[in-house]
Amino acid sequence: FGQLRRQDPEIAQILLDELERVRGGIQLIASENFTSPAVLAALGSTLTNKYAEGYPGRRYYGGCEVVDRAERLAVERARELFGADHANVQPHSGASANLAAYAALLQPGDTMLAMALPHGGHLTHGSKVNFSGRWFDVVSYGVRRDTELIDYDEVRDLALRHRPKLIVCGATAYPRLIEYTAFRGIADEVGAWLLADMAHPIGLMAGGAIPSAVPYADVVTFTTHKALRGPRGGAILCTEELAGRIDRAVFPFVQGGPLMHAVAAKAVAFGEAMRPEFADYTRRVIANAKALTDALAVDGMRAVSGGTDTHLALIDLRATGVSGAEAERRCAAAGITLNRNVIPYDPEPAAVTSGIRVGTPCVTTQGMDTEELKEVGALVNRAVRQPGRAREVRERVSALLAIHRPYLSEY
Ligand code: PLP
Repeated sequence: FGQLRRQDPEIAQILLDELERVRGGIQLIASENFTSPAVLAALGSTLTNKYAEGYPGRRYYGGCEVVDRAERLAVERARELFGADHANVQPHSGASANLAAYAALLQPGDTMLAMALPHGGHLTHGSKVNFSGRWFDVVSYGVRRDTELIDYDEVRDLALRHRPKLIVCGATAYPRLIEYTAFRGIADEVGAWLLADMAHPIGLMAGGAIPSAVPYADVVTFTTHKALRGPRGGAILCTEELAGRIDRAVFPFVQGGPLMHAVAAKAVAFGEAMRPEFADYTRRVIANAKALTDALAVDGMRAVSGGTDTHLALIDLRATGVSGAEAERRCAAAGITLNRNVIPYDPEPAAVTSGIRVGTPCVTTQGMDTEELKEVGALVNRAVRQPGRAREVRERVSALLAIHRPYLSEY
């Protein structure tokens, strides 16, 4: 870091400012986490220099014998961690992983069935502004109005009516467990592939805190940077039958050279996730999410679907009279970072929203417990309902962070 500071003080200052930003607030963004120093070390390594198009032992560049070892380790650890036949650790992101998985299974114009964005699905699940919505004929399912849970009857009806080639389960803002057996049954009934986009819950699955989708899906795509606590990136698991198709779709169809520093960092993260401490971490993430959700509910901030089984909750703010966008701003002013989010059947547009999404991967990595999460819930409530008390909330936030400081040195 000293070298960077001398050579490029502007960027060095940005790194320091970001560290200070993170240290100065409570991070409740459900899709973020704090990677370990070991993961950061791999990311900041000379492996970033190496071109390695292809796969271990089958590269299109010389000098790959060392990075091959990193990729083999990442693949072996991913297979062991998730009990998968095959793993591809090269996707640069969750979106790239989905693009590659669709490319492996579909042709442009084919029909796929996936969760609607306003009900918790991801952009890559068929949004019109995304490649998925432009290149495929997308049919969307959602959650029921009364239970706010996935409507499996609707999924089956739509599958029978539209005969999709691919069914996607998984979401970006769905707080409950997904019934993979139901999805598998529907996919088998209509002869569709089943893709589980586990970007969000994969870390909890790695730690064994929730049931895994791997035994049920033909393909599992995921991100490595959320509850899993690895570097920013993506990965794909699949059956032996699809291994060749998935590999060819990632390279050369979608990507060129893999980011070998990120691949090495993924291997480090998978190694960390195999340890008993990580299993304990994932259980605490969920306990903390439940404590936070309960605390918010006490003060009239209703959890969509009545609660959470995972690391995140979607909160309906309509009883407070404050929009999601305004709540996001008010919390930021009080030192709490979270994001606005549409709730199912939201009367407000995505830029405003009636809800917020909260998650506990970061605060749990910092060591906060359920009692502290109850207090965080009360602080969110005060910040949203009483913006005049932002300074007071900020002081409590600082007190909590003084005990649970992320990153002790300048990484
Ligand atoms: N799929 C789901 C369900 C996600 O939640 C996300 C990201 O939040 C992605 C895919 C895309 O991941 P990335 O942002 O790494 O492209």
